[in-house]
Amino acid sequence: MTMEPKYKRIVLKLSGEAMAGDKGIGIDSSVVRLYASEIKKISELGVETCIVVGGGNFWRGRDSQDMDRATSDYMGMLGTVMNALALQDALEQMDVITRVMTAIEMKEVAEPYIRRRAIRHLEKQRVVIFSGGIGNPYFSTDTTAALRAAEIDAEVILLAKKGVDGIYDSDPNVNPDAVKYERLDYIEILKKNLKIMDSTATSLCMENKIPLIVFGIDNENNIYDVVMGKTLGTHVE
Ligand code: UDP
Repeated sequence: MTMEPKYKRIVLKLSGEAMAGDKGIGIDSSVVRLYASEIKKISELGVETCIVVGGGNFWRGRDSQDMDRATSDYMGMLGTVMNALALQDALEQMDVITRVMTAIEMKEVAEPYIRRRAIRHLEKQRVVIFSGGIGNPYFSTDTTAALRAAEIDAEVILLAKKGVDGIYDSDPNVNPDAVKYERLDYIEILKKNLKIMDSTATSLCMENKIPLIVFGIDNENNIYDVVMGKTLGTHVE
């Protein structure tokens, strides 16, 4: 019996933290290679795969108290481009055809984001990496994942987290009695103010009825397993 993937088109959100591995900041190329090999596996199954990369391993807009917020956010967006290039490089070394798209034009580095072109790449089985967030300050890469998933009609957003394996009722790294949810509604996330994505991203997913799976990336096989339909982490609808 051949195993069929559960999804045809996905958005995988990789946080900047995940790109840093245990180093905490910058890029750990050995973990990036591990993610790349998982992405290769799902892409070879024919899953149309987009990746939205975060940038928190380099810079977060809110990190600076005394800078102009928009300027600080642009620095954060540029960090995501570095992560995208590192991931592209790791994938290409494994012969996976990829395209990096940027929400802020920098044509010498990567293609500008054009929705129809992104969809065409997916149809041709190219892995598409979205960088630069949505290209506007005051937003996050979680919101980017939600927006791009809606735009390209992805079936699901896979939110890969480092250091936590799902959504809990309180921070499991602080409260040892924290309880993990297996299923949740978006409205509960908003009502309970669960800090899993910012409220802009949560609302966008809710309004556009995009299912979300929050799972841990510390076991890198999880990317493959979740695409194959294994019950992992927390499912949100
Ligand atoms: N950012 C932004 N607009 C966007 C996406 C990101 O201004 O559309 C900036 C923001 O400053 C953010 C930083 O880029 O803090 C890095 O993104 P994020 O914090 O979402 O990365 P992650 O937490 O996933 O590593």
